[in-house]
Amino acid sequence: MSGAATPLVGMFGGTFDPVHNAHLRAALDIVEAGHLEQLRLIPCHVPPHRGDPEVTTRQRLAMLRLAVRGEPRLVVDERELQRDGPSYTADTLATLQSDFPHAHLCLLLGTDSFISLPTWERWRELAEYAHVIVMTRPDYDALALPAALGQWLRGREVAEWRPLREHRAGYVLHQDVTAMAVSATAIRDRLRQGRSGRYLLPDAVWDYIRDNGLYGAGADAG
Ligand code: ATP
Repeated sequence: MSGAATPLVGMFGGTFDPVHNAHLRAALDIVEAGHLEQLRLIPCHVPPHRGDPEVTTRQRLAMLRLAVRGEPRLVVDERELQRDGPSYTADTLATLQSDFPHAHLCLLLGTDSFISLPTWERWRELAEYAHVIVMTRPDYDALALPAALGQWLRGREVAEWRPLREHRAGYVLHQDVTAMAVSATAIRDRLRQGRSGRYLLPDAVWDYIRDNGLYGAGADAG
């Protein structure tokens, strides 16, 4: 389907361990810049031996749900958790395409994820299912573009949203988002040191982390 009125649906995948304000603000910036119909936050499957043992899939999901409460344009999507083992983004996009046949899909990637694309399974296929939106990420500007990615980009980059509505998939748009040098790794480190996570995450997410003692946060952590 093509045409100016075609809705855009976004996919924002991540570990979300935990989800934080930089994820959420970037997500909303993209929704607003591109007038997306909705943006689906898709937590990925993490093998038990890699994650922090005290944070379960159920808890990552609970934090995401708390984070988007009251913002109907951000939707938590559990599809990758319902499949056993890691999900390839190409497969996830294929299922989204059959669920949203009326829409054009936009895959959101922070600069660091974008640069790592050539290491992803069947990464070239992604452009058959979706457009790619690259979100600027502080501290990652100087990352070098792998040669394979540079070649793949030729003819795909656009400077505005219109072609994304006019064509089903395959374009790449760099979109500035609110610069916040926040990462889940830095938050986990901070909590382990007994510091507070408040104002880096939505209040409801911080309360949940503290009340459940996740990432080593103590009940007196503020
Ligand atoms: P970790 O520190 O554990 O690697 P993270 O904070 O980078 O976590 P992820 O869940 O790994 O978060 O990232 C999901 C997506 O969000 C990725 O595409 C990543 O590039 C993007 N992202 C994360 N933090 C930011 C940020 N501060 N600004 C823009 N994009 C971000």
